[in-house]
Amino acid sequence: MIVENESHSPVRRRSNIAHELGHHMLEHSFDTVILGEDHKRQFDQPQEKQATFMSGELRVPLAAAERMAYDGWDNERVAAPTG
Ligand SMILES: [Zn+2]
Repeated sequence: MIVENESHSPVRRRSNIAHELGHHMLEHSFDTVILGEDHKRQFDQPQEKQATFMSGELRVPLAAAERMAYDGWDNERVAAPTG
């Protein structure tokens, strides 16, 4: 279960959800996790970096980002939701 803060912007909420999914997909142990606002204190630093990388790959995969950059997309176009 992922708990969201509805007061955050949709962009931040998507980012947070992707980060938490990253922990799940990487099978990080939640045995000793303490829920809190400052997430970085609950996981070790390597796991945070891994989840942050996975979050980026879930939202804008590196290969797609490189393609968009070569095609001249600006940041706003890259970040625009689709679907
Ligand atoms: Zn994390």
